Amino acid sequence: MNRLDGKVCVVTGAASGIGKRIAEVYAARGGKVVIADLKLEAAETVAQAIRGVGGDALAVAMDVTDEVQVVTGIEKAIEHYGQVDVLVSNAGIQIVNRITDFSLADWKKMLAIHLDGAFLTTRECMRDMQKRNTGGAIIYMGSVHSHLASKLKAPYVTAKHGLLGLCRVVAKEGGEYGIRANVICPGFVRTPLVEKQIPEQAKEFGISEDDVVKNVMLKDTVDGEFTTVDDVANVALTLAAFETNALTGQSIVVSHGWFMQ
Ligand code: NAD
Repeated sequence: MNRLDGKVCVVTGAASGIGKRIAEVYAARGGKVVIADLKLEAAETVAQAIRGVGGDALAVAMDVTDEVQVVTGIEKAIEHYGQVDVLVSNAGIQIVNRITDFSLADWKKMLAIHLDGAFLTTRECMRDMQKRNTGGAIIYMGSVHSHLASKLKAPYVTAKHGLLGLCRVVAKEGGEYGIRANVICPGFVRTPLVEKQIPEQAKEFGISEDDVVKNVMLKDTVDGEFTTVDDVANVALTLAAFETNALTGQSIVVSHGWFMQ
């Protein structure tokens, strides 16, 4: 059974959706979890619920695009738990628009959250992992959009493809320290991020919300099913608990066969 006993796991964007479930699953398998999120109150609620069932969790306020907040947040995690063993760089948002209608501000906001956030959290956690030289796991929340493109999602697709590159460099630089890096690439998961897109895409494409789900989001899956937060959390658990460098620099697609590599 995959166990994380005593491992300190920082999960960004863990106040909601996929990140929240990963934090819960990690805690249930013995991990000490740091719930790092823009929304401190919601992060505190998740941490309290984990502590309420006997787990160990700390909520930390962190805007992953802000260097000072990332540095301070990881420092707080290390102050509290002594180290960082696992980073799940998961915080993300979605903004959909046609390229011709995208503002530069929205483009920069998307790249900042998905790429600057991944870089800054990686740098701070890797510094601690390398200093202690006890290995570690870094997991990026990519997407099927790390491998293919959809209309209306230029910055999201660009950023999610970019995470593959960052992951591979981290895998190479981390190798000698036993630091593994991998990307999880989920298909559509029914979280607030996706719920918001259904009416937006219906409006943009001029189709019903039902058609967005059936004929846009799940059209190419093998069974017309959404991926679940549990599906993604179980893969994140395996990647965090895996013990050797045999599994590094990879992307694992969890999408009901939407994308097959
Ligand atoms: P969600 O909206 O449920 O949760 C995202 C969390 O990130 C929220 O708690 C939010 O407060 C936090 N966040 C946003 N901006 C932040 C910032 N600057 N700093 C710190 N925290 C911030 O979304 P989700 O669906 O759980 O998405 C999580 C990740 O999974 C994202 O990277 C997303 O791109 C990726 N993903 C989601 C799906 C899907 O279908 N839901 C599919 C593939 C990949």
